[in-house]
Amino acid sequence: MALQLRPNCEYCDKDLPPSAPDARICSYECTFCADCVETKLFNVCPNCGGNFAPRPIRPTNPWRPGVCAVNQPPSEKRVHLKFTLEEVAAHSMQIRSVPPQER
Ligand SMILES: [Zn+2]
Ligand SMILES: [Zn+2]
Repeated sequence: MALQLRPNCEYCDKDLPPSAPDARICSYECTFCADCVETKLFNVCPNCGGNFAPRPIRPTNPWRPGVCAVNQPPSEKRVHLKFTLEEVAAHSMQIRSVPPQER
């Protein structure tokens, strides 16, 4: 299965197309923009408490037959926070000082 490549930042709703260099994901593919990860979430996913990594960019050219963003298109389902901004901030505050490998 390919990564879902969700279309937006869950926090600020910024568009994050498959070519976006500033898309960040957690291990569950929760997707945010780099700015929100750095200034709002402090590298704590509001959904799972895990950290983030840059989302790889999916090639648009089929360098191998059948393998590209045309054959495995991005998700069109926009995702939004399930928690209030206050809840997200409290959650991050509680977890951010714990290194990801110890969460
Ligand atoms: Zn954002
Ligand atoms: Zn997550």
